[in-house]
This record gives sequence, C-alpha cells and structure tokens, in this order.
Amino acid sequence: MKILVSGASVAGPSVALWLGRAGHDVTVVEIAPALRQGGYAVDFRGDVFTTVLDRMRVLDDLRALQTGGNAMRFVDESGRKLMRLPAEFAGGELEVLRADLSRVLYEHSRAQAAYRFGDSIAWLREHPGGVEVRFESGVEETYDLVIGADGMHSVVRRLAWPADQVVERHLEYYVAGWEVPNTLGISGDTLMYNVPGKLASVGADRRDPALAQTLFVFKSPRLQYNRRDLDEQKAILQEQFGGLGWHVPELLEALPAATELYFDSISRVRVERWSTERIVLLGDAGYGATFGALGTGTAVVGAYVLAGELAQARGDFRTAFARYEATLRKAVSTTQDGSRAGSFLAPATRFGIAARNRILDIPFFLNQMLKMAQNMSELIELPAYSIDTASGQQGELVEE
Ligand SMILES: Cc1cc2nc3c(=O)[nH]c(=O)nc-3n(C[C@H](O)[C@H](O)[C@H](O)COP(=O)(O)OP(=O)(O)OC[C@H]3O[C@@H](n4cnc5c(N)ncnc54)[C@H](O)[C@@H]3O)c2cc1C
Repeated sequence: MKILVSGASVAGPSVALWLGRAGHDVTVVEIAPALRQGGYAVDFRGDVFTTVLDRMRVLDDLRALQTGGNAMRFVDESGRKLMRLPAEFAGGELEVLRADLSRVLYEHSRAQAAYRFGDSIAWLREHPGGVEVRFESGVEETYDLVIGADGMHSVVRRLAWPADQVVERHLEYYVAGWEVPNTLGISGDTLMYNVPGKLASVGADRRDPALAQTLFVFKSPRLQYNRRDLDEQKAILQEQFGGLGWHVPELLEALPAATELYFDSISRVRVERWSTERIVLLGDAGYGATFGALGTGTAVVGAYVLAGELAQARGDFRTAFARYEATLRKAVSTTQDGSRAGSFLAPATRFGIAARNRILDIPFFLNQMLKMAQNMSELIELPAYSIDTASGQQGELVEE
C-alpha cells in the first residue's frame, strides 16, 4: 500500500521502519526543516519496550547511546541539597536522549521510507478509494492510508476528526527544555530548583561536557501562543522565570540563542476512536499525555502493533485498525492516568514542595514509589506477530 505518515519524531519513524520492511511504499512528512533535535532524556521501563526495540533491531544502537540515567538532586536557592532521587527513579531500564532515539529510528527506517522535511498536510479528503492529500508545498497525492504520528497537536487529527470526538485536557502545567553552555560544570546529578508552581532544572549532556540541558516546568492556565513562533515561547519563559534566584538567570541567558526549544503544555488527548476509514492516529496524536506517562514507549509499541495488525489482516485495514485499538486502548488509558508529572515536579505551594521532599527523603516511601513506577509490561500482553525478528529478511514482514 501507499502510506503517508505525518510526523518524524518517535512514532513516525518507528512505524515507517516496520511498514517499509513489510514492503509498503511509505512517505514520512515532517513539518520541521530537519529531524528535530532537543528534548530531554526519555526512558523505557519494562520488557515490553525492550522486546519491541530488539525486534526493530535498534536496541544495540540505543544501548550504546544510553545516558545511564542521572539522579535528581533537589536544592534550595543556595544549592544545599533538600532531597535526592536515585537515577533509577527517572531513568527506567533504558534511558536515551529523545533526539538520539529519533535519529536512530530515522536512520534505521530511511532506506525503506521516503522522508520529506519542511512540509505538512494542509488538507485531506477520504473517499472509498483512498485519501487525497494536499500539502502546504502545493504537492497533491492520493494514499491508501494516512497515519497521524504528528504529536499532541496533530494536524491529521484536526483535519480528519470531528471536534466533538476529541478531548484535549490541559493538565495545568507547561514543560520546556533547551540546550545551554555548561558554565555550571554539571557532570553528575541533575540539579532541580523549585519555587511554588515552578521547576528550573539543569542536567549534564553526556555526549558533550561543554553542554547541559535544561528542563523547566511551570503551572499555568492554558496560554494562547503560536506554536511555530519560538520567540513568543521564549518570551513566555522569560516572563514566567524572570526574577527567580538560584542559577535561573544564567540558564535563561542561553535562551535567546537556542535554535531548538521544546515547549508544550502538559495535556492529555483522548479520541473516541483512533481511526476513521483509512486514517489512523499513532502515539501522542491519538493517546498522548506529553510528559510523564510513558508516551515514548507507548508510541514505539503502538507502531509495532499497528504494523503487525496490518500485516496480519493482509490488506484489511479496517480490521487491523480495530484490533490495534483493542490491543492497546486499556493499557494506554491506564498509563495516561499517571500523567501527574507537572504537580510532582513543580508542586503549587511551599507546603507541597516541602511535603514531597520530606516524604521521598525517607527510604521506605522512596522504595514504595519506585515499586509503583509505571510498567507497561504488566498492562499489555505483546501480541506475537513475530514481525521481522533477527532471522527475518529485510524487506519482509514475517507472520507467525
Ligand atoms: C523536540 C521535542 C522534544 C521532546 N522532548 C521531550 C522530553 O524531554 N521528555 C519527554 O518525555 N517527551 C519529550 N517529547 C515528547 C515525546 O517525544 C513524545 O511524547 C513521545 O515520544 C511520543 O512521540 P510522538 O512521535 O507520538 O510525538 P512527538 O514526539 O511530539 O512528535 C511529533 C512530530 O510531528 C511533527 N509535526 C507536528 N506537526 C506536524 C505537521 N503539521 N506536519 C508534519 N509533522 C508535524 C513534530 O515536529 C514532531 O517531529 C519531545 C517531543 C519533541 C518533538
């Protein structure tokens, strides 16, 4: 089939890899002019993820790039330690930078899929014979299937789903990250500084000791801004964090020069049905929660199940889409409910900050929390498609 994938971050290249290997004619369109850099580390927790990454034959590359995870040291204005969370708290079993993950997936899929950067779907219309698409560049094409893997603010979802079937809930927080020169000499623990409703943090960049990565979180009602306007997003961060102490002024100083900025609301998307006739949503576009709800692992598993079901159904995409949703929906809803990253990282009150620090400083409670860390492996039984295991040939999708 001729398949268009919108979005080239994690979900898009993952599904392109599988579909390309299966012999489909795959194009991935990405709005950014090149593969997006930036973002913090993302982690995989549980066998289900490593099994899929292994079947994709990307696990070794990712292991070579893993950050090893960093402990999080919460400090006060003078840098004194208030509480420390060990590396396994945030790092999971395999932690890599989001940009590294995206690049590895891209590199493993680009031999089998055409990538088109700097373009976007502007209009689409579904009919019994296919999906007609017009791109912003003016190019027009008809595809058998379209996959929306274009994130939280998916254009595919906006164009193809009735508004009353989509619930996008802003979870009261925003998250941002950008690269800074490592003037603070960070090499070990990620430093975390809170004031009520805000977190400013900075961690080492394992690949380059001269660089560090920030992660800022702040509580705010939904903001109106242009998602394509980096300057506007930088101005929001300056306004939110300007005047704060600790190392915040230094971290903000690097902001004007940042060419990549990750800035998003922490939101949860629920779509009544993940597919229409020939259009299907994958990853954050269909069931995202931005941050703190295993979104990356879910996108990778989602791509595997979607491609596996398409292979299994031998062209009957309606059956494949229904089975893909039935396999994942429950697990995804459960992990989405865990999306409380904002209030955990940046409690709204002084009392909330002190209570979190005090409780997690007690080994018993910390261990309880580690045990509770979400593990999708317990929520989903990975179907046995045996899609392209190590013995499979490149260019074919093997079914059990
Ligand atoms: C730059 C960046 C940094 C991130 N940093 C972190 C992080 O530090 N921690 C974390 O937990 N999560 C982070 N995320 C989110 C994380 O990648 C996702 O939650 C998860 O991996 C699911 O991935 P996804 O591919 O479904 O969606 P996303 O990763 O959001 O990717 C969507 C892709 O679609 C593209 N796109 C958007 N609109 C269009 C359009 N109209 N046409 C074509 N393409 C479009 C985007 O540019 C992006 O490449 C980041 C995402 C991005 C894009």
